[in-house]
Amino acid sequence: MKHPENDAQFKGLKVNDGVKQPDIVSPYLKNFRRARRKLTPGDYVDGILKGNVTILSQAVTLVESLRPEHQVIAQEVIEKCLPYSGNSVRVGISGVPGAGKSTSIDVFGIHELNKGGKLAVLAIDPSSERSHGSILGDKTRMEHLAQHPKAFIRPSPSAGSLGGVARKTRETIILCEAAGFNKIFVETVGVGQSETACHSMVDFFLLIQLAGTGDELQGIKRGIMEMADGIVINKCDGSNVDKAKMAATNFRNALHFFPLPDSGWAPKVLTYSGFYGLGIKEIWDMIDQYIAFVKENGYFEYRRNEQAKYWMYETINEHLKNSFYQDEHIISMLENAEKGVQSGKVTSFVAAQKLLDEYFNSMKV
Ligand code: GDP
Repeated sequence: MKHPENDAQFKGLKVNDGVKQPDIVSPYLKNFRRARRKLTPGDYVDGILKGNVTILSQAVTLVESLRPEHQVIAQEVIEKCLPYSGNSVRVGISGVPGAGKSTSIDVFGIHELNKGGKLAVLAIDPSSERSHGSILGDKTRMEHLAQHPKAFIRPSPSAGSLGGVARKTRETIILCEAAGFNKIFVETVGVGQSETACHSMVDFFLLIQLAGTGDELQGIKRGIMEMADGIVINKCDGSNVDKAKMAATNFRNALHFFPLPDSGWAPKVLTYSGFYGLGIKEIWDMIDQYIAFVKENGYFEYRRNEQAKYWMYETINEHLKNSFYQDEHIISMLENAEKGVQSGKVTSFVAAQKLLDEYFNSMKV
């Protein structure tokens, strides 16, 4: 290439030609890439069952993919892994941003790994679609776990609706369990819907709370408290100890007014400090006690079966909704229907009925 800078009029300036790059640095890399793309569902399953984390990650990427051809492979892999799944304790961990989830999960995870086994940390982040990236389940937030050879950390899938994101997390649990991960944490952020989704895929739902100004109970919805199998007040350290203990008492008092959950287990309230590693053993003793209790009275199996049913209906609902809203004919009618409803010319019910009739009638032909 001729460089104009080398013209005689520019003194003291010389630009050399660049070095031409070879097409590919290693001739083997090409084969390697091709081989990687060609993994069959059977290869994924073999790799997963052998505990190969690279293949597990690739399979999770397929599960998260929106491409129909990826979904076909993913579903086959999930189905083949299903008989090897279920052998774990799944704990949901929720709390508002700043409650100390990542600090706590790092400490909880190491505590659990010291007992043996393998841990997968997954996440459901309802905001990941908008932000195109998830802060939940981020490795940089869990520095000890991130370096642990027996830990697998995967951020929240970022595509689709909350229901879609949560379903992918649930499917990822199956793959992780088939890969021998016998402890699963599902992290979620404390905003209603995502907690319900998280609750519907775990055996124990742990709610992290902070001591506030005394009115902490007002900000927390009754439904969320009802979901919790255990409530833990974080940052019980330094000058915050009394406030944290007071908050725990308030929560305990509030829980007295709730009926005993179906599990027969009365939720406990504990204080701890994730940052200083205080009270961690007590929290996990509580979870172990709960698991032993519900395995004994049959609720463990019952809850998992109910969850399987829940996810079947969730999947049907999701598909029906997508099919309706992605229908070209419906899309073309929606705008007018909206206008009609807003101007008061037609009632919401009649407009909805008309669209639904159109949709279902078009199914019949
Ligand atoms: P997350 O948003 O829920 O994941 O919360 P983080 O784990 O990122 O914690 C939020 C902030 O609280 C950070 O500055 C932590 O250092 C701090 N923090 C977390 N746990 C504790 C604790 O046990 N005690 C104290 N004093 N601070 C903590």
